[in-house]
Amino acid sequence: MSAKIAKCGLCDEERALNHSHVVPDLFIKLVESDRVTGAAGQTKPHVILATTGESGKKKGVYPAQRGSWESKIGIKEYLFCAKCESKLSVWETYARDVLYGNSPAPCPKLELGVSIIDRVDPRLRQSAQLHDLRSVKDIEYKKFKLFQLSLLFRAGIANAKQFSAVNLGDKHIQRLRGMLLNDDPGDVLQYPCMMISLIEGSWSFEDLIMDPVGGRDKIAGLFSYHMTLGGYIWIFEVSSHKASSEASYALNLSGDMLIPVMSGARVIQRALSALPMIDGNWRSKML
Ligand SMILES: [Zn+2]
Repeated sequence: MSAKIAKCGLCDEERALNHSHVVPDLFIKLVESDRVTGAAGQTKPHVILATTGESGKKKGVYPAQRGSWESKIGIKEYLFCAKCESKLSVWETYARDVLYGNSPAPCPKLELGVSIIDRVDPRLRQSAQLHDLRSVKDIEYKKFKLFQLSLLFRAGIANAKQFSAVNLGDKHIQRLRGMLLNDDPGDVLQYPCMMISLIEGSWSFEDLIMDPVGGRDKIAGLFSYHMTLGGYIWIFEVSSHKASSEASYALNLSGDMLIPVMSGARVIQRALSALPMIDGNWRSKML
């Protein structure tokens, strides 16, 4: 693996840095599938890349091979030293086991917890395109929350344009860095992360990564960031003083969280509106 000497994004020490994935490897593996690359029938992992053509990238939807596409779209950067990478990988392994089990990738989301949809008003269910509401228990707060915080932190320190919507500011970057370095997951309402599981027909979205979006919620006055990764929308609230009522869905100290299962139609619409030119395979999967 190539390396360069610079300040590590996490420990801030001058170290040999790895060419790290901004999005954890776990999600990279979920979007890849093997394709035949040569006349001899050898296969290599590929992704289907969909880009709007910004920053001079080829516009459209096309397959791209492992090793080329991550650098091309800025999903890889020299970010962390080996010690910090191994720290992050402990939380990543735990989150993978919780969400997808330990069978080899690409693997579908596990159906977590039990359904409590019968407690939701049917009118609300319909208007919110809510398919199910899962009550999930026995998650290790510390490891899982630290994994969630690491997603926000990585996107916050990444330089690539695709992460530019995640604008945390120095105060929150330093606070998150301190929490990760000290294995401190913080309390429940510190950077709470609500997770929405996406589904549309037979597609459960594990193989879709979209650029994060975010901004200030006009009503609550809170900043929130949405990341679509691994079949979930991860919604982070970033505030020093308050949290929204939805934050009660986030993982709590007892290891409980609520996961709404919702229609992915809006996610699909967003992708389609950004990409008017889409080839047959991708479109047929989306519609
Ligand atoms: Zn480090």
